[in-house]
Amino acid sequence: MASLPPRCLSFFVLFLFALLINPAISLRTSVIKLPGSDGSADTFCSSWRLAVETNNAGTWNVIPSMCVDSFAEYLNGDQYGSDYDVIADYALAFAKTVQISGDGKDVWIFDIDETLLTNIDYYRAHGYGSEAFESNSFNEWVVQGTAPAFDASLRLYNALKKLGFTIILLTGRDEDQRSCTETNLRDAGYSDWERLLLRGPEDQGKSATKYKSEQRSKLIEKGFKIHGNTGDQWSDLLGFAVADRSFKVPNPMYYIP
Ligand SMILES: [Mg+2]
Repeated sequence: MASLPPRCLSFFVLFLFALLINPAISLRTSVIKLPGSDGSADTFCSSWRLAVETNNAGTWNVIPSMCVDSFAEYLNGDQYGSDYDVIADYALAFAKTVQISGDGKDVWIFDIDETLLTNIDYYRAHGYGSEAFESNSFNEWVVQGTAPAFDASLRLYNALKKLGFTIILLTGRDEDQRSCTETNLRDAGYSDWERLLLRGPEDQGKSATKYKSEQRSKLIEKGFKIHGNTGDQWSDLLGFAVADRSFKVPNPMYYIP
């Protein structure tokens, strides 16, 4: 078997030595650092957040426990609101290209939770999505009716009204939460929606994708043209009878199929 020439061997030994003493040479190994090893948690959590926002992650239940601090920083900092702002700007730019017919049939659909209203105060007290969803405590929060508006969503909502869009609210909340939801929306600054569609008895047990698609389909049957749709869940936007343009606002805290 041929052996390495002495010159090559000394270069190889020198390279090995340099690798051991100089971390910069090990830079490429950092991309395969395990999540949780020093310094990589934020990187991993940003990537995980991108994966859920793009729906690459598909169905998931709770956020990785190692991401609680990272998501708390995102959700309580400027980035979260800025993300809504940029999306609202794109939605509005599209809305301005729509020819409004003036017959009241040009529709923009909004979801409510984490789209018009923020439940961050609830999720702050429940681990930012690291705890399994508990419907009783969430419903108690909903009944309080104190969820604030996202500034960007309120801005978009009012701008769409001014442009002549008919606003329809389509939520996974139950029909028996109509009154507290309406009060909360008004207190948060929203007004003049054409319809507020909530889950009735016949919608129980349906996936959000199916329920919302059916509701959109009924609107289209009634002659409404669904130009835009804004929601924090892919199940707000996908399925059938989809809007001409769908706008996904961020939600790294929970996933609704
Ligand atoms: Mg929502």
